[in-house]
Amino acid sequence: MTSTIKVSNLGFPRTGAHRELKRALERHWRGELNAEALLNTARDLRARNWQLQHEAGVDMLPANDFSLYDHVLDTAVLLNAIPDRYRALCKRDPLAGYFAMARGAQHGKTDLHALEMTKWFDTNYHYIVPELHAGQHFRLNGDKPIAEFLEAKELGYTTRPVLPGPVTFLWLSKTTDGSDRLALLHSLLPAYAELLAKLRKASAEWVQLDEPILVLELEESWKQALKEAYQALAQKSRPRLLVATYFGTLGNNLELAAELPADGLHVDLVRGSAQPGEELDALLRRLPPGRVVSAGVLDGRNVWRSDVDRGMVMARKLMSHQGTERVWLAPSCSLLHVPVDLDLEDEIDPLIKSWLSFAKQKLGELRTMADSLNGVPSARERVEESRAALKSRQTSRRVHSKAVQKRLLSVTPELTRRPQGYAMRAVRQQELLQLPVFPTTTIGSFPQTPEVREARARYKSGALAAADYEDFLRSEIARCVHKQEEIGLDVLVHGEFERNDMVEYFGEQLQGFVFTRHGWVQSYGSRCVKPPIIYGDVSRSAPMTVRWSAYAQSLSNRPVKGMLTGPVTMLQWSFVRDDQERAITCRQIALVLRDEVKDLEDAGIRVIQIDEPAMREGLPPKRSEWQHYLDWSVNAFRIASSGVRDETQIHTHMCYSEFNDIMDAVAALDADVISIETSRSRMELLDAFAKFRYPNGIGPGVYDIHSPRVPGRDEILELLGKARALLAPSQLWINPDCGLKTRSWPETEAALRTMVDAARSLRASEA
Ligand code: GLN
Ligand code: ZN
Repeated sequence: MTSTIKVSNLGFPRTGAHRELKRALERHWRGELNAEALLNTARDLRARNWQLQHEAGVDMLPANDFSLYDHVLDTAVLLNAIPDRYRALCKRDPLAGYFAMARGAQHGKTDLHALEMTKWFDTNYHYIVPELHAGQHFRLNGDKPIAEFLEAKELGYTTRPVLPGPVTFLWLSKTTDGSDRLALLHSLLPAYAELLAKLRKASAEWVQLDEPILVLELEESWKQALKEAYQALAQKSRPRLLVATYFGTLGNNLELAAELPADGLHVDLVRGSAQPGEELDALLRRLPPGRVVSAGVLDGRNVWRSDVDRGMVMARKLMSHQGTERVWLAPSCSLLHVPVDLDLEDEIDPLIKSWLSFAKQKLGELRTMADSLNGVPSARERVEESRAALKSRQTSRRVHSKAVQKRLLSVTPELTRRPQGYAMRAVRQQELLQLPVFPTTTIGSFPQTPEVREARARYKSGALAAADYEDFLRSEIARCVHKQEEIGLDVLVHGEFERNDMVEYFGEQLQGFVFTRHGWVQSYGSRCVKPPIIYGDVSRSAPMTVRWSAYAQSLSNRPVKGMLTGPVTMLQWSFVRDDQERAITCRQIALVLRDEVKDLEDAGIRVIQIDEPAMREGLPPKRSEWQHYLDWSVNAFRIASSGVRDETQIHTHMCYSEFNDIMDAVAALDADVISIETSRSRMELLDAFAKFRYPNGIGPGVYDIHSPRVPGRDEILELLGKARALLAPSQLWINPDCGLKTRSWPETEAALRTMVDAARSLRASEA
């Protein structure tokens, strides 16, 4: 029998095409769905995912890529890396303990904070950061990977269990005692070895260990750790190991990756390689014979239909070098980052739709490539169709706008500078705004109640007339403004009730964007986002936010902040066209926002916030590429924000960011005030600002809005005490750590009252 090239997948979206998991989780958390029913939903989803992948033509399916909340948290739990404070609950009720680690828990005598959460490399997926400490003991706790492997087997699928590799697991973790997490490798490896042995016993042929840190520029000690780890794991009683790397080229780690004692290596042949697999030749020279190569030939994190010819060029090269049976075609990374099924989209313009590909379609593209390479006659037609789609996109007039091109050429350095420096602006702004010391504010959104969501849904489906929807929003805004006045906040917001999502809302009003109806992607836990797709040049035909902000301002004498999503975040949280540099697309968005900022100012808005929560996550995985990214992203923010008068106060907001290494860029944004997330990390983030002597206003978040917990006054005062020790009184603003849209009104009100109360007592104590 002649050997054929196989299609393999690294991971599939977990939420379900209709967000079934999200719904089940949230009902469970509300007490409306018991644990058993939740776990049944999860099992059904896994079964459907395997079936779908199988039908799409995947020969090698992943298992254990599913998670109820997050795969890093799953791994921590599996390795028994459970911080002491959760142990009692975990023992009593493992599922409740798991969710307490993920999102905090407050009931009866239980009062637990969630673990920290941060971005998964440079994606918009957030993982839970495992907490480790010196002397940590790891042992297997539960059998999730084995159980899911067996579950698939029972359904007739042979799968390859997937989990983060030991070194990447340590890389993603943090120690709470300042000890070196890498020192824990030796106690970690036996647990991995035991797991591998068990999987072997359960008859798993392959196991995939993800080591995406291989695309980073690693210090010697981490490289050494990778070598040691895989040498240690290359023991007898184990399945075959596929080490998977993704999110970029291997760069300096190429030799290391090629020589790891594993049975297969998955490489990303898309990201960071301009030429078809620039690194491929070097890799092939290094790879020991007999190694399986899982070739990431199409982009697993973007939605464009791929160039099948490009993929097949690389595949052929690999086949002739490694032997056909040792080449697998795969997406560049797990498909976690793309929506499930393009077929569900019946409203996208058919031309644009023909350029797109979601998880299911991507697997189909891989099948097409494999079939074509295997000489299956029916593949020809599919290859032709794919070529035609690519060509139509390259030449379409829907993509390119002369007016936008022209405006881009007119950007001068003056456009990126405000007339005066911060010190002078601050004086003018205070004259105008007359704020108390330690002003209080929020990050923008207020609870998106079921009523708000229902009204929007009815409006979108045509069941609610535009004028009625408008009235509804106005009454929500009025209620929100009055509530904020009553609570005693100093700088108000309109509440963002008209927004479903902070990027979608803007994209829907801009040219160059297209929207999906079911294109959900997991952001964290049960949170999903529906990223817009930027397919063409971006322009604005009318103001997007002015009427809401102006209406809110008309209801109060206190300043109402205008709320915009920044250019970098719009880019970062969209699927971005891959036919021009991201920097150029970002600049197009910045110009559109500049016009909006000006319109807000003209409408009498004195404070304007341009959110850039995604600024940091856009950093390329390789440090040597950071500066270039920071240059163009800071530049874009400044284009958007610098068109206003001195007395107009520009705020920005960032969340879940380690600011230490990007302080220069944060300062270079030159926002008058920045609000940041710090409450989960207990103000540790603020150290970076203090060390840097950050001169402008800062609002370190004083409580965690990602948890339903209502903070106590003393807790807030304690955090404020820490902030006060690091900042000048004139710098400090008081706010929650992010928007309140996921919270309910009673807890929001209680928390904000406590916050304002804390602000008052701080003022009194310093008066
Ligand atoms: N203004 C947005 C809100 O309040 C900011 C959200 C975010 O930082 N992700 O919801
Ligand atoms: Zn935020």
